[in-house]
Amino acid sequence: MRQITIAGGGLAGLSLGVALRRADVPVVLHEAGRYPRHKVCGEFINGVGEETLSNLGIANLFSKAILSQETHWFIGNRHMFAGRLERPAIGVSRNWLDLKLAGMFEDLGGTLHTGSRQKELRQEGVVWAAGRRGKRKSKWLGLKIHVENLQDLQGLEMHMGRSGYVGLAPVEEGRVNVCGLFRLQHYGGRGAEMLWNCLTANGLKRLSVRLQEAGPDPSSFTAVSALGFGGQPGNDGLLALGDAESMIPPFTGNGMSMAFEAAETALESLRQYSEGIASWEKVVRDVRRGLKARFRRRLHMARILHPFLLTHTGRAFLSGATRSGLLPFKALSRTLR
Ligand SMILES: Cc1cc2nc3c(=O)[nH]c(=O)nc-3n(C[C@H](O)[C@H](O)[C@H](O)COP(=O)(O)OP(=O)(O)OC[C@H]3O[C@@H](n4cnc5c(N)ncnc54)[C@H](O)[C@@H]3O)c2cc1C
Repeated sequence: MRQITIAGGGLAGLSLGVALRRADVPVVLHEAGRYPRHKVCGEFINGVGEETLSNLGIANLFSKAILSQETHWFIGNRHMFAGRLERPAIGVSRNWLDLKLAGMFEDLGGTLHTGSRQKELRQEGVVWAAGRRGKRKSKWLGLKIHVENLQDLQGLEMHMGRSGYVGLAPVEEGRVNVCGLFRLQHYGGRGAEMLWNCLTANGLKRLSVRLQEAGPDPSSFTAVSALGFGGQPGNDGLLALGDAESMIPPFTGNGMSMAFEAAETALESLRQYSEGIASWEKVVRDVRRGLKARFRRRLHMARILHPFLLTHTGRAFLSGATRSGLLPFKALSRTLR
């Protein structure tokens, strides 16, 4: 069988590697970093289907995962809305999940090279799953930290500030992940301090105090900038999957699901290539078509809604719509998955 080489050991690359190994395809995976490692991520998976996880052969990893069906939204200090998600969201840290997937991949006979940063190779048999491309003029800053002892969490919490939002999600070992996306500016401070400053500057001082009292774990702090949402540029001739192909705005909690779904979409074509049944050109064409059909609607909807969370007018509209009961939350949560 022909070998598949995967660049990028995040969720798209690792889950694809596991699924290909289950089909006896020889796989070599290169990951620039090392496991375990914290990543800027809200760490709740919204909308992923049991069938997708089963098709990839990774469903058992989630058998004891924390499930949240309730979501509570706040503007500043005001509780604005409580709703139920169509499907329960899965709370799991990337520190744990990526490590487990990497172990599973190796146990199945996959070859994993960590600390191995690859150059983009437009070459037969190479899958590019190396995450989003850095966007130099991006206006976004992503920050995340775990807190160890937050007693009063209400399901999945979403807090909207003046120029950004922050989500709270329960993950394993009683921890709560805190992850925000804010307009990039100088907030001052380093590490966790920057996050507290950022919350205060966004009108979320009470939340900042609540989190500081809840035992933050400084070693879990991570930050990222240079974020660009939507279809990623420069993928001509590449078989790109996950964020490397397109990145949905984080408020949807759907990016991890999309990484798994992208791997699922590519699986059968790559298996056929490995067996010599399909040409690489056909694989690239079919997978791209499949991804477009699967993700177009939710990417479009998320792009329209994202500014509502980040502008004063947008938030005022949202607040009015929820108070008058006009927010079509069920329909939205169905579209964004
Ligand atoms: C602020 C923020 C909050 C988010 N919150 C959520 C959420 O709550 N729920 C959700 O579902 N999604 C969320 N997401 C999105 C989610 O994190 C991504 O969609 C998901 O990680 C995509 O998986 P991936 O495998 O495509 O990319 P990644 O997980 O980014 O993996 C890419 C991997 O490739 C490696 N790599 C990079 N370059 C190279 C190279 N040249 N060679 C080899 N390896 C390389 C990286 O080290 C990395 O491990 C959030 C994103 C942000 C920015």
